[in-house]
Amino acid sequence: MDLNISNKVYIVTGGSKGIGEGITRAIHSEGGKVVIATRSDGPVTENLVSELNSNGSCHAIIGDLQDTDQCKRVIDETVEVYGQIDGIVNNAGMNDGVGLEDGPVKFRASIHLNLFHYYDLVHYALPHLKKSKGSIVNISSKVALTGQGKTSGYAAAKGAQLALTREWSAELLPYSIRVNAILPAEVMTPLYRKWLDHSFDNPDSKEAEIVAKIPLENRMTTKEEIAAMAVFLLSDKSSHTTGQFMIVDGGYVHLDRSLT
Ligand code: NAP
Repeated sequence: MDLNISNKVYIVTGGSKGIGEGITRAIHSEGGKVVIATRSDGPVTENLVSELNSNGSCHAIIGDLQDTDQCKRVIDETVEVYGQIDGIVNNAGMNDGVGLEDGPVKFRASIHLNLFHYYDLVHYALPHLKKSKGSIVNISSKVALTGQGKTSGYAAAKGAQLALTREWSAELLPYSIRVNAILPAEVMTPLYRKWLDHSFDNPDSKEAEIVAKIPLENRMTTKEEIAAMAVFLLSDKSSHTTGQFMIVDGGYVHLDRSLT
């Protein structure tokens, strides 16, 4: 199937690591151009850009998206380099474990880390998305639906991303801009690895305990499986899909618990 994204231009936040890296690679392999907007500087981003940039189709903009000016810079520089924006994948974020005991200052910082740049990028990109009838993909989390405990900030931000997915899909109907969300559950990424290694005395047994509860094939979702859904949602093969929450999780959230 030709996804028809050849030469289209997509911004992927956090696009050089984990799920974002998977999405960057999937867009590139379908012939699209990718701007990686990330704070991860050094080899992790440089190596990926030099691997994918042989035909000028990958560009990185380094900086912290918590800074609104950086979000504006990402949009301006993307248009300077490639002349158009056909879609945004809002992906950068982390489960920072700010719970009820941690207090208002940390709670607000957690929302800042995980939510505001989703809005800021789409705000600044709007004129360009209107021109291209672009597509927006918000990477949320199962935590928005299930809760997790001890992570109020992340849960609130991920829930707000789902609300904004519906709100923007309504507001942007007149421009044929589609907005959808993907909710991963358990995907092995650098962040997930760090969480396992730093949170448990025996990370291997914790990992085994988690995968045993994933109904489909008792394994984690791969970043390539998340990326396949993302490129479908970016492409015009999903031209009548908007305001949807795609739960790519091997049945983890919804299937009968007695199955595992
Ligand atoms: P990851 O491995 O840490 O990759 C995220 C990338 O985004 C990193 O390069 C990170 O930079 C960057 N980033 C984070 N905050 C940023 C900011 N403010 N400005 C610029 N760059 C920023 O994480 P991941 O596991 O792939 O997660 C990606 C998304 O999926 C997140 O929104 C996460 O909540 C969601 N998710 C993941 C899972 C999972 O199982 N992995 C499950 C549900 C939802 P640094 O390395 O410098 O932090």
